Amino acid sequence: MSDNHRPVIILGSGCAGLTAAIYTARANLAPLVVSGREFGGQLYTTTDVENFPGFPEGIQGPDLIDNMKAQAERFGAEILLGHAESLQVAERPFGVALEGGVEYTCDALIVATGASPKPLGVPGEMELRGYGVSTCATCDAAFFRERPIAVIGGGDSAMEEALFLTKFASKVTLIHRRDEFRASPVMAERVMASDKIEVMWNTVTKEFVGSSDTGLTSVRVADVNTGEESDLAVDGCFIAIGHDPNTAILKGLDVAVDDLGYVTDGDRPLPFTSIEGLFVAGDIHDHHYRQAITASGYGCRAALDAERWLTNRLMGA
Ligand code: NAP
Repeated sequence: MSDNHRPVIILGSGCAGLTAAIYTARANLAPLVVSGREFGGQLYTTTDVENFPGFPEGIQGPDLIDNMKAQAERFGAEILLGHAESLQVAERPFGVALEGGVEYTCDALIVATGASPKPLGVPGEMELRGYGVSTCATCDAAFFRERPIAVIGGGDSAMEEALFLTKFASKVTLIHRRDEFRASPVMAERVMASDKIEVMWNTVTKEFVGSSDTGLTSVRVADVNTGEESDLAVDGCFIAIGHDPNTAILKGLDVAVDDLGYVTDGDRPLPFTSIEGLFVAGDIHDHHYRQAITASGYGCRAALDAERWLTNRLMGA
């Protein structure tokens, strides 16, 4: 085999990919992790992580990811900053072609490319991520105790985030672009019954106002009917307009996806896919939990199954 062959290649360097790297490295499989365009996944854009077990004082998202990377490297994983452009999985060894032309081959492939929160695409959004603008209430709600916050969206995610945030915030303003929710009736009813939640109907977000010094200070909104703009003073704003699974690399392959585009059970239950030797892990198949700890758990699961699958192949089973 060439220098560019590895027993296992892992696509994605978030919690799922790096946990899969730790497990496969400790199994002496010398995995290659291809980071993706942004190393570290969603946690790398988060500040304090207070719910990952083992860190009673919390840990910064990038530090947690850097620790996982160091842990994987300690056991022989190689982390490559790069982006996989296409796969050859019609026959083994599989081929992984990276942007820039380098190609690798592998016996087993774990795709842990995650999901990305849909952005609003308005000024201030990216600059204030981690400074008041968030996409994860479970991660960041506790920073807004007794403070006014907003949630953007009208689906079940927005309802769930808003309801969860009522346990922390002094007031939750739910900003929705239409005059009715997309969410399931039961969730919408709970929101409407909460005396802590006020709904701003027919309202779009124009800008997030603030700086890394002040944090978010307000959200500039506009009434879709009148066009009238106003500033809603809040300390935090949670964008919950859906996620997109990062499945572009699997396009055209025989991998089952559900109607939201997430990888789902095919011939065999996950982490296996219909393609022998191709495994998936993390938010690419999980839109229900979406936590760092569950993504790590899924990475562990895929690594153990990939290792056993490789062992069975070597033994001719
Ligand atoms: P979703 O159902 O697609 O809802 C997205 C919401 O965001 C919609 O209300 C949409 O507005 C709004 N939106 C989209 N783009 C926007 C933009 N650019 N500006 C402003 N608003 C925008 O996504 P989701 O809420 O994440 O739910 C995804 C799936 O997971 C759903 O099937 C949901 O039922 C499920 N889920 C279930 C639960 C639960 O059962 N506990 C919890 C979370 C999610 P419009 O309505 O105007 O299109």
